[in-house]
Amino acid sequence: MAYNSADIAAFKNVWVFCEQRQGSMMPTTFELISEGRKLADELGVELHGILLGDDVDGIAKELGGYGADKVIVCNSPLLKHYTTDGYTKVICDMVMEYKPEVMLFGASNIGRDLAPRCAARLHTGLCADCTHLDVDLNGYIEFLRTGSSVDVDNTKFETKLFDVNSNLKMTRPAFGGHLMATIVCPRFRPAMATVRPGVMQRRAFDEAGANAVELIHPDFELSEADIHTEVVDIVKAGKKLVDLIGADFIVSVGRGIAKDVDGGIKIAEELAEELGGVVGSSRAVVDAGWLSADHQVGQTGKTVHPKVYVALGISGAIQHKAGMQDSECIIAVNKNDAAPIFEIADYGIVGDLFKVGPLLLESIREAKKEA
Ligand code: FAD
Repeated sequence: MAYNSADIAAFKNVWVFCEQRQGSMMPTTFELISEGRKLADELGVELHGILLGDDVDGIAKELGGYGADKVIVCNSPLLKHYTTDGYTKVICDMVMEYKPEVMLFGASNIGRDLAPRCAARLHTGLCADCTHLDVDLNGYIEFLRTGSSVDVDNTKFETKLFDVNSNLKMTRPAFGGHLMATIVCPRFRPAMATVRPGVMQRRAFDEAGANAVELIHPDFELSEADIHTEVVDIVKAGKKLVDLIGADFIVSVGRGIAKDVDGGIKIAEELAEELGGVVGSSRAVVDAGWLSADHQVGQTGKTVHPKVYVALGISGAIQHKAGMQDSECIIAVNKNDAAPIFEIADYGIVGDLFKVGPLLLESIREAKKEA
């Protein structure tokens, strides 16, 4: 029978596109597998990873350690490097054959290229850049109760659309981050979502799961004629980019450094080095050309949750908060005691960052000597 994305009853299981580059799994994949496990449990179905590459069985097993029941592995020299045509064809063929009801992609450059292409070809819906996912309606209502201003006790949830336990509820920032929108894809399957790196929490690795995961090697067809681009060379960025997402300590600077940009960045660098962390920034700093774009934290930058986030001269605009409010401990330094960053700070210091920064540095050094 022809593939029909509207035949909802025919679809089952949660899939995660497992992104690898040069044979190494991208960290976001483990976050998505962890989140996929939660969704699969809510739906009472299996979680499958789909991994494309050339000779990538060796990295597939690890996915079981984060919760995958099975991994569909498609090996071919033609899949060694990502191409839009090749990956789209194989993924769409697999979806048509196995019919997953939910499919997640990382909102990486590759995921953002691949997911919409697959969604269009499979005639289904895609919600981009999600920050929260639910299947279970009660879990979603709880999320709204704690994470939004919606008066949930006096709100009627349209159960047809929110269909108690089958539709994926995909939440993402909208209107420049001023609103959160929850989107459902009630009439077509799979319900597809891209999720920003760093947003979902990675589960603890479970050795037993890694040993138990089943690898499936389906037959698939792919020829050179299917791929209209040729990867001639892979050139890595000359400068090492800042690893904000994996950092435990981040010291970020904002426009508050304007009166002495080099001095302000130096304070942040010294603090970050002393803490064993990295330097981040607000968008104002990137827009001014004071730091490169890979430093930016926030809605259009990176989403981070370090152990400690230090904000120096950052006002705390909603778009900045969106990327750092889940940090375990937030320390803010701002000369304006009404700056919104203080609303979410665990420790707030009202003062000039050029005076407070060196004092912080000194006290960290002292504390380390005493330890
Ligand atoms: P400002 O808002 O100008 O704040 C500077 C702060 O420094 C002030 O609070 C001031 O009191 C303080 N200050 C000044 N001098 C000192 C001093 N000597 N010592 C201590 N404090 C001092 N922003 C992001 O950061 N990330 C994003 O991803 C992002 N995405 C966006 C997406 C959209 C669609 C839009 C519309 C905006 C986005 N923005 C983002 C921009 C955001 O709205 C703010 O404009 C930006 O975060 C402001 O940066 P800032 O706090 O550094 O600067």
